[in-house]
Amino acid sequence: MAEDYYDLVGAARGASAEELKKSYRKMAMKYHPDRNPGDKKAEEMFKKVSQAYEVLSDPDKRKLYDQHGSAAFEQQTGPRGGGGFQGGADPMDIFRQMFQGGGGFGGGFGGDGPEETTGEDLSMELEVTLEEAATGVERTVRYRRHAACKTCSGSGAEKGSKTTKCGTCGGRGKVVRAQAFFQVSQTCPHCGGAGVRIEKPCKSCSGEGRVVEEHSVPVRIPPGVDNGTRLRSSGNGSAGVRGASAGDLYLIIRVRDHERFERDGDDLACSAPVAFPTLALGGQIEVPTLKGKASLKIPAGTAAGTVFRLKGEGMPNLRSQSRGDLHVRVDVHVPAKLTSEQREALEAYVKAGGDAAAPSRKGKWKFFG
Ligand SMILES: [Zn+2]
Ligand SMILES: [Zn+2]
Repeated sequence: MAEDYYDLVGAARGASAEELKKSYRKMAMKYHPDRNPGDKKAEEMFKKVSQAYEVLSDPDKRKLYDQHGSAAFEQQTGPRGGGGFQGGADPMDIFRQMFQGGGGFGGGFGGDGPEETTGEDLSMELEVTLEEAATGVERTVRYRRHAACKTCSGSGAEKGSKTTKCGTCGGRGKVVRAQAFFQVSQTCPHCGGAGVRIEKPCKSCSGEGRVVEEHSVPVRIPPGVDNGTRLRSSGNGSAGVRGASAGDLYLIIRVRDHERFERDGDDLACSAPVAFPTLALGGQIEVPTLKGKASLKIPAGTAAGTVFRLKGEGMPNLRSQSRGDLHVRVDVHVPAKLTSEQREALEAYVKAGGDAAAPSRKGKWKFFG
């Protein structure tokens, strides 16, 4: 059955072009495939609504429709048209042309209404220690940003002063200039895209509706952040111009180098000096971890440079519950001074053939693999 184009678009018969556009936008958003993934009925409606709007937005076609109804268009419809619509335009194109300003030809004004001058995103570096990166930490960051002007509550107008529609652009914030075969849409030079003219601009903010001020905001740094991790604090960037929405604040994490631990992703590494007898005879040593201490068993005959892995003693993962490991490389600790008793014992060790423990010269020393 033929459907009423005005019903489809959701507008009254006598609706103005602007009203039609608004109603169409509402309907198109409702049935847009992006919002109704996999919904065939919505897709069909999106097509019908867009094609109905295509007819109604063209003054000539609209006149024809008003006089003859959809029959005027059905005559041209091939079998693929369906539902009494012209087969021609892609509904997606109609939609795009209306709302993304698809270039000069027959298109609209790029967007609907004045430009929203959203506040700028801000970003700052934030340094944390490795311990803080491991546990997470609360911080208060201080920075300068644009905030809504308190004198005029962000309107940009002096108290009692009137705000009128900009005469140059008619409140649209954009002007259209004909250039050769194209219509070029530009930000209105008179009102800077705001669409309004302020009679008496607010003195505190010169009419911008916002002022620069010092701002501090508490932030929670989650466990597991690394160098370059970007955290977003929504809405804590600069305030928008004349009440438009604020930008975001981005914190770029810098993790200070640690005096003991090296980091590679979620893993940590450190070296631990171990006395020669412990390496030779085996024993238990204490190694530092980020959280405190852990005990590590050294098997008898452990070579210097051996790496032991302490599972789960690394960094927490930013996105999961898992933790990295701590790699401990054992070094030989050589005492700088010996007591006479220790010296005698060592000399006795050498006499007993201890020197034979020196590495054999045979065989190639391999660094890689
Ligand atoms: Zn102000
Ligand atoms: Zn203007």
